[in-house]
Amino acid sequence: MLRWLLIRASGSDGLADLTRTSGLAGRVVARYIAGESVDEGLAAARALVAEGATLTLDHVGEFVSSMQQAEAAAEVYRTLLEHVGTEGLPAGISVKPTQLGLLLDPEGCARLVGDLATRAAAAGVHVTLDMEDHPLVETTVSLVERSQAAGHGNVGCAVQSYLHRTAEDVRRLTAAGASLRLCKGAYAEPEHVAFQRKVDVDRAYLEDARYLLAHGHEPRFATHDHRLVAAIKRSAAQLGRDRSSYEFQMLYGIRTDMQKALITDGYRLRVYLPFGTEWFPYFTRRLAERPANLLFFARALVARPGGDSTAAP
Ligand SMILES: Cc1cc2nc3c(=O)[nH]c(=O)nc-3n(C[C@H](O)[C@H](O)[C@H](O)COP(=O)(O)OP(=O)(O)OC[C@H]3O[C@@H](n4cnc5c(N)ncnc54)[C@H](O)[C@@H]3O)c2cc1C
Repeated sequence: MLRWLLIRASGSDGLADLTRTSGLAGRVVARYIAGESVDEGLAAARALVAEGATLTLDHVGEFVSSMQQAEAAAEVYRTLLEHVGTEGLPAGISVKPTQLGLLLDPEGCARLVGDLATRAAAAGVHVTLDMEDHPLVETTVSLVERSQAAGHGNVGCAVQSYLHRTAEDVRRLTAAGASLRLCKGAYAEPEHVAFQRKVDVDRAYLEDARYLLAHGHEPRFATHDHRLVAAIKRSAAQLGRDRSSYEFQMLYGIRTDMQKALITDGYRLRVYLPFGTEWFPYFTRRLAERPANLLFFARALVARPGGDSTAAP
């Protein structure tokens, strides 16, 4: 219920403005968002690369209301890919299909994905289409299949273990040649499409992970769940899979202790780095994942500037 309310709140302009103007709440936001400008995003990227991480850059935004906005979003990604190429940053991009106009003009969206894929390939990096909520899954999966068939081998997407359909999608997209990011899923989905119990989501995650370790193309395991990370390491070792042939992915600002430990132990770790002005929906999904975050944030939101400020959660 809490998750459902928060996901619905992600569209609230009033709450977004209140968050923007509250100094303390801004500090909570800064834990998850690397800044608002391209320069701030790139500065955070360079710092993480210096620590041994690779990256996937997310210029936050979703559900644009015109193709001009979609084109503007693509233009920011072009700028990022130019920096990635010239600076040799080990950084792919993560894009939401609705940010590129999937719901307005599917053909126009496919053209923008193709254009970004070509530029990303020139820089030697990968494009991941983030997976949004369930009505968009089939069109996103089809878009990846279509991109692969058009020769854009560097286009993949996220798949969400909470969806009943995902085991089938994993096979379908692997057959198409796509490298996939496996995550649990961040939206409030109904029972007829998604597992509701954590135990079922985790079991499905491990089954999908084992399939990807056995058959996938450079699988990307996106989770901060230490039990899943340990189980994936064990399965990979049992299958004789080299550490360089798969990677773990974690979100900027979350479980940085685990991120560092993975790098130290010689695993590939990619940080998902979000930045940009349209951070509110991304931020509310992070709050929804952890009730403790919500409590801290609510306190910060109502606190007077200059009042008590404890460390971010
Ligand atoms: C790189 C990456 C890309 C993703 N892309 C997508 C996508 O395209 N589509 C999609 O639907 N979802 C995406 N997600 C989100 C994902 O689906 C989950 O909602 C999120 O990762 C939480 O699940 P978990 O696997 O970390 O496990 P959980 O069991 O939720 O968390 C495990 C532990 O991680 C820590 N943790 C998790 N979340 C938070 C948080 N918000 N704040 C503080 N600590 C936290 C806590 O210590 C928690 O105990 C992505 C996640 C990652 C890491």
